[in-house]
Amino acid sequence: MPELPEVETVRVGLKRLIVGKKVASQSHDWPKSFPNSQGDVNQFLIGSKISDVRRRAKVLIIDLDTKYSLVIHLKMRLLPTIEIPNIDFMKKVGPEPLETEFTSDILHQRLQRRKNSSIKAALLDQTVLAGIGNIYADESLWGAKIHPETKVGQLTKPQTKKLYTEIVNVLRLSIEKGGSTDRNYVNAEGKKGSYIEFAKVFRRENLPCPRCSTTIIKTRVAGRGTHLCPKCQVVQND
Ligand SMILES: [Zn+2]
Repeated sequence: MPELPEVETVRVGLKRLIVGKKVASQSHDWPKSFPNSQGDVNQFLIGSKISDVRRRAKVLIIDLDTKYSLVIHLKMRLLPTIEIPNIDFMKKVGPEPLETEFTSDILHQRLQRRKNSSIKAALLDQTVLAGIGNIYADESLWGAKIHPETKVGQLTKPQTKKLYTEIVNVLRLSIEKGGSTDRNYVNAEGKKGSYIEFAKVFRRENLPCPRCSTTIIKTRVAGRGTHLCPKCQVVQND
């Protein structure tokens, strides 16, 4: 599953390539990933002009001049543009970490929904924050020197502030590098991203920590493979 930087990279690339173009025909590799009736496709998609390519969390939205949009999450659906904010996912999803309204105070508030969880589980929760998955959770926790198992309620204000800065920096760097190619992700032009070469802990188990040279370990937190430096990131739960 791609995370925010990968979806953003695809969005920017697609926007450049397809806005203003007309949809001539439609084809797909996997019928289950395109659950739309032929009638809807003919009426709202074929012949329509693409007016914008937007993103919310990890969801890509292609707006058409028929006032319908293609909403691409795990499946691609056609939907009236006006109904998008009513999709269950859109109603529940947390704030966009790269928007100017997102501040360290907002991060602190959002995290309070998961006071008793580990910070890693809270970061992966899309209702807390939009678009963060395993890679960027591990990278930003390393940057902030926070152990992924630390309980949200134990985090100090300065730690939350540092975590906020790290989340924003890690996501920005990844977008700059075209995302991280993991399994089957490629950008709008079919190219791979290079962020993973810049990762500090993710998939770097048994290698030295770039900050203190201690060997990075891989463990399991929140049910996910988790990479951390056992010296820089110490659990501080009471
Ligand atoms: Zn370290």
